[in-house]
Amino acid sequence: MKVLVPVKRVVDYNVKVRVKSDQSGVELANVKMSMNPFDEIAVEEAIRLKEAGKAEEIVIVSIGPKQAQETIRTGLAMGADRGIHIEHDGPTEPLAVAKCLKAIIDAEAPGLVILGKQAIDDDANQTGQMLAQLLCWAQGTFASKVVIDGEHVDVTREVDGGLETIRLNLPAIITTDLRLNEPRYASLPNIMKAKRKPIDAKTPDDFSCDMTPRISITKVEEPPKRQAGVKVESVAELVGKLREKGVIK
Ligand code: AMP
Repeated sequence: MKVLVPVKRVVDYNVKVRVKSDQSGVELANVKMSMNPFDEIAVEEAIRLKEAGKAEEIVIVSIGPKQAQETIRTGLAMGADRGIHIEHDGPTEPLAVAKCLKAIIDAEAPGLVILGKQAIDDDANQTGQMLAQLLCWAQGTFASKVVIDGEHVDVTREVDGGLETIRLNLPAIITTDLRLNEPRYASLPNIMKAKRKPIDAKTPDDFSCDMTPRISITKVEEPPKRQAGVKVESVAELVGKLREKGVIK
């Protein structure tokens, strides 16, 4: 079985994002970019399936600027086999990405597609669901456990009441939750090996993908600054302050 893993290049989760002065978006110049953390979990899961003999090939796909190739290389260094890069500068909205991924999936015919549950830059949480709809495939979202069993895949999901396990017919779409696994670090020899793994360079036109944005961002604002706290000298003073604020009676 071939496993396809779409990965997005996003601002590294350790970076404190800054809003551009014209409020048109967040500052991306000279900012550290990395693979979306949920996509690292997706790559790790695909590698574990391969190690368990449940998958033969792992293909990483990224739609984004030239530098998205570095993000694909990260996945190759973790253990994926090859990459497909769709070079596109500008916004990549979930519907356009899902349509583009559908065209790639039609050509590649994977048995399983594992995406992150959301990209931490747009927090959309839409691409996997839209892709399942476009392909008419079953979907297991927010997976915290994945077990392949012949023609099926069992996906355990964390829901309000506890853990829900659903059985999907393959081929299927899975989106990863945080507790699915802990992604590995690429070893130095694997980073060197990844340099020789193939990445197919494509454009949206090669797959007849229309990347025209449908949404325009009206304004991006910083969250309100936190007010400075007050130091109190005693418990009595603390209780007084809490009473003043109406927190206690
Ligand atoms: P989103 O719906 O934007 O929150 O993204 C959910 C998931 O879709 C991500 O975790 C990725 O697996 C995939 N995805 C989103 N955008 C891209 C992109 N530009 N290239 C490849 N995969 C993407």
